[in-house]
Amino acid sequence: MKQEIQRKLSPLKAPLKSPGLKKNLKRNVDVEVYAFNAGLVKTETQYLLKDTRVGAPMDFPVPFLIISHGEEWIAFDTGCNAEAASDPAGYWGEEIVKAYLPVIGPGQEFQQAIKILGLKPAGLKAAVISHGHLDHAGAIEDFAGTNVPVYFQKAELAEIRKIVVSQQTGTAYIPGDFKHLKELNVREIEGLFDIFGDKSVIAFPTPGHTPGHQSLYVRPTGGNAFIYTADALYTLENMKKSIPLGLAADLPAVMQNINWFKLEDLTGVIIVPSHDPEYWAKHAWAPAKLVP
Ligand SMILES: [Zn+2]
Repeated sequence: MKQEIQRKLSPLKAPLKSPGLKKNLKRNVDVEVYAFNAGLVKTETQYLLKDTRVGAPMDFPVPFLIISHGEEWIAFDTGCNAEAASDPAGYWGEEIVKAYLPVIGPGQEFQQAIKILGLKPAGLKAAVISHGHLDHAGAIEDFAGTNVPVYFQKAELAEIRKIVVSQQTGTAYIPGDFKHLKELNVREIEGLFDIFGDKSVIAFPTPGHTPGHQSLYVRPTGGNAFIYTADALYTLENMKKSIPLGLAADLPAVMQNINWFKLEDLTGVIIVPSHDPEYWAKHAWAPAKLVP
């Protein structure tokens, strides 16, 4: 029975006979986090901070995370598609590029970038995607033809399937990003997802920016627990001044998330925003470990 429960809680675990699992049960597996800069996007401030400093240029980084848990590795988000680097207007469309112009250097695309840690997509245990937007799900095709599970919240997958059916660009959903969806081992999550079954890395729903958006709680070994918000919080200024996101499917839900994140002061769980240029200027990218 105990083994049965453990199996249910730990969808990514090796078989029970593996010595790795025994280690996991003792919760002494090292958890380490690496943040990657998958390029930057040139935009204006109001697109991140609603109605704020309208017209003022702002360049924001596009992060994704790689997390190790013992011998296992996962990705949280993937950055932009490689085609967005070479032909942004052709791939994302003229309208989007007017508001968001990507600048992606050689080696910043997902599968090139993770080589710095000696990784390749097929070697990961899972990819967990915050939402389907172009700067988060852009490189999921790197997992095509592998058996690596790619996890989305159910509500987000429903949005993505609408884009796949219509082949129309929705707000920051690009049909081309999902052209290999059928060749991916896509999995649906509903609610909390304790990725390794030991409460060290937990994806949880934060709908608002998009209908099925999710964020990530991480408890790294020897470090502070933190929440990587993904686009539930673009910048710390959105939180500190209660400024809504410039792009939101459901504005009240966005503000509710922002209020939850303000519990940082009470809980000590550090809030790590996605696209905050000032935050990321002070934090090291991979191959250095992220110390939030
Ligand atoms: Zn984003």
